[in-house]
Amino acid sequence: MKRQDQQITGQLHSIETMGLVDGPGIRTIFFLQGCPLRCLYCHNPDTQDLNGGRIVTPSEILQLANRYKPYQGEDGGVTFSGGEPLLQGKFLAESVKLLKENEFNVCIDTSGYGQKEYYSNIFPYVDTILLDVKAFSERAYLDMCLVKQKPLIDFMNQLEDYGFHGQIWIRHVMVPGYTDNKKSMQKLIQTIEPIQHLVERLEILPYHTMGKEKYKELNKPYLLENVNPMDKEKAKEFEIYANVLLAEQMSKDRIELIEKQEVETSTLETNVSLEEHNKIIRNFSNLPLLRHINPEILNDIQHQFIVKKLEKEEILFQSGDDPNYMYIIYSGAIKIFNVLPNMKEQIFYIYRKDSFVGGHNLLSDSKYWYTGEALLDSVVITIPAKIFNIYFANKKAVLKEILSQSFARIRWAEDLINRLATLNSSVKTAGLILRLAENFGIKKNGQIQIPMKFDRAEMSNFSGLTRDSLTRKLGEFEELGYIHIENEILTILNFDALESYLN
Ligand code: SF4
Repeated sequence: MKRQDQQITGQLHSIETMGLVDGPGIRTIFFLQGCPLRCLYCHNPDTQDLNGGRIVTPSEILQLANRYKPYQGEDGGVTFSGGEPLLQGKFLAESVKLLKENEFNVCIDTSGYGQKEYYSNIFPYVDTILLDVKAFSERAYLDMCLVKQKPLIDFMNQLEDYGFHGQIWIRHVMVPGYTDNKKSMQKLIQTIEPIQHLVERLEILPYHTMGKEKYKELNKPYLLENVNPMDKEKAKEFEIYANVLLAEQMSKDRIELIEKQEVETSTLETNVSLEEHNKIIRNFSNLPLLRHINPEILNDIQHQFIVKKLEKEEILFQSGDDPNYMYIIYSGAIKIFNVLPNMKEQIFYIYRKDSFVGGHNLLSDSKYWYTGEALLDSVVITIPAKIFNIYFANKKAVLKEILSQSFARIRWAEDLINRLATLNSSVKTAGLILRLAENFGIKKNGQIQIPMKFDRAEMSNFSGLTRDSLTRKLGEFEELGYIHIENEILTILNFDALESYLN
């Protein structure tokens, strides 16, 4: 059967194999044919016509991308430019999907005008959008590009609804006499406000006249005939000014947003000194969960995190509590448990350093159905819901971390079900030792040692055995040479033997 993409074709104007400015790293750039805009300064007027270019399939695009892959290196990838690539929606959708399946980094250079019906099939596969913002009012758009501004405004407002979770580089071509003034830069920043939280870079590109000759060849009038190229240094100054304005606007909006959020009344208060708080937060920013949050933002919001020391057996949250926080374990261990109908405590999970709990509850706005209690003296960093929702919940990388930890927990829960379902106390004991090894084990002289920081009652709650049975079984395992317990340290002597109980 023919692949679906063999029916889909696009019109390719040209290829650049070593693009250095159109996205991160070195790019293979596919210039697609056709553009609905008629920018006065366009230096590729030959790409505007909807008819023309070479007919290609998405598979050919993949083949070409593979051919130039050695040049792209680790940071580079493929960029679709034009013309306006979004004008070939069906072809672009199939191409970006294919490229992503083959692990290419994908950029789209666009003005935001195209076939909307394909956007939801395009943007989930795009890493970076190079968004060209040409002018800053309806009138100015008509004057500079001969089209209305509204499609661009709609594009920006709906971009995340189309499934885009990447970054945006904003680009503006500055033409002398048009936008080379501070007022225009202020308007630029206002225009991009709906997407400012995704903006990674803002560039002011100085207008040049290198495309002029092409107009003669095409027998088209060049309407900026009397306009000089933009001074590069001046453009750089405007670029710096615009970036400062953007940073200010983002910071103002962030503060307003936080103030607008209904602040949950909380009884959670820190019990560490400011010095300790700062020290903990400094280390804390290296956590995998936080590595993807912009360091400046982290710096701005970290004073709102609550650092809390818990003594062993102190409750962090209880079953039935509202999801007001996400908790990150900085040190110690937190046990997650419920009291069963027979009044026995059943421990589900033990969270150690760098684990977190509560992210799912915040995302789904669901109450806790279990209790979190310090199994050892612990320090926990608490992120209030309002901060989580503004800065964390929309970060793909953070969601990925939450999801991957969830998978580990599902595996843990399945294992727990298996262990508890059996009546065999050897299986329960072996399972307990192996899970503790996973969480608390330290490798020493080729053996795994588990510091027995918690009492037998706790261990029996985790294993599903009575204290007596557990003590008896541990004694038996010692006699069999599987483990050795001395000075509150359990050493695993025969890992395979323990594991064979679970298989
Ligand atoms: S959007 Fe780009 S390709 Fe289209 S007319 Fe403007 S500059 Fe030229």
